Amino acid sequence: MTEAFLTQLLQAIPLASVLIGRGERILAANNDAKALFDQAIVGRHFITAIRQPNVLDAVDACLSDHQTRRTRYLTSEAGKDLTYAVTASYVDLGAGEGVLVCFDDVTHVEQAGQIRRDFVANVSHELRTPLTALIGFIETLQGPAKDDPAARDRFLSIMQRESHRMERLVRDLLSLSRVEGEERMRPTARVDVATLIGSILRTLAPLAEEAGVRFDQHGPADNVFVPGDEDQLRQIFTNLIENAIKYGGQGGLVEVIVTVADDIPALRGRGVSITVKDSGPGIADVHIPRLTERFYRVDSHRSREMGGTGLGLAIVKHIVNRHRGRLRIESTLGEGSRFTVSLPAE
Ligand code: ADP
Repeated sequence: MTEAFLTQLLQAIPLASVLIGRGERILAANNDAKALFDQAIVGRHFITAIRQPNVLDAVDACLSDHQTRRTRYLTSEAGKDLTYAVTASYVDLGAGEGVLVCFDDVTHVEQAGQIRRDFVANVSHELRTPLTALIGFIETLQGPAKDDPAARDRFLSIMQRESHRMERLVRDLLSLSRVEGEERMRPTARVDVATLIGSILRTLAPLAEEAGVRFDQHGPADNVFVPGDEDQLRQIFTNLIENAIKYGGQGGLVEVIVTVADDIPALRGRGVSITVKDSGPGIADVHIPRLTERFYRVDSHRSREMGGTGLGLAIVKHIVNRHRGRLRIESTLGEGSRFTVSLPAE
């Protein structure tokens, strides 16, 4: 078997692959393997080309007993850690023996696992805090505060607040999982965005009044149709306007601006943009790209005080994606924030 033939065969394997032959030299490698190790890898002793002991052990073991071995190869490229699942398999080359070593890039699988573990840890942490408070107050009510009506009332109201916090968290988690599940299904109903915003502002009026916040709605009052899921669009703008009220500061102004344009560059076509603008303290630049991550908060204490779950903007991002829209966040410290959702329009 010529080197050209072996190279051609390896080239057909959709993984970085090298064939190690007699004298433990590399007989052939495909382009992915050359990119991973070195362009001049062929002909070299495999120990000098693939320097990780566990891979070398796998090759040696495979050469000695002809059994397939699996291991990992860890490397980094441009500051990013990469993980490969390595398989070393014995091959009888006719004129000698060899080991075919294939490197499967499983970095994304590892990352997904890490994200899942972080998520479970975050959810557990978020649930544990109110749960610990509830357990503590129940014990106090059963014991030391048993016959103290004033303490009982105070503790019950804290318990009520903590159980509502847990309920909101579970509701947001369910909503996030539903929205993620539907992300690939394009919504088909027809929704009038301007009318929807008007209805949301009426629903949130008591909350705004409580916070001393004024609303101002600009743009067409009705008939701005987008293909959408009405409940989900309601959720987007409710979350954004609630945040503007919560974080915008007492006595502020929350503006909702609806504009229609034939050519929105981010959408490459006709669309409607809805901007929710507050006059609050604003958000520093470093936080902006991370705001839509689950449980990311600029100020955890303040978010929790306000009853936030840290999931609102993550839900917004998924719904916007499902609608093939764009979310843009702009803010200047001391001058407030603008959250703009652009949606493809009819
Ligand atoms: P939360 O439940 O904490 O409000 P969100 O996902 O809705 O979670 O928002 C994430 C974080 O983004 C908030 O904790 C807050 O720090 C920041 N944030 C969101 N909206 C605003 C806003 N209008 N002004 C300032 N900060 C905001």
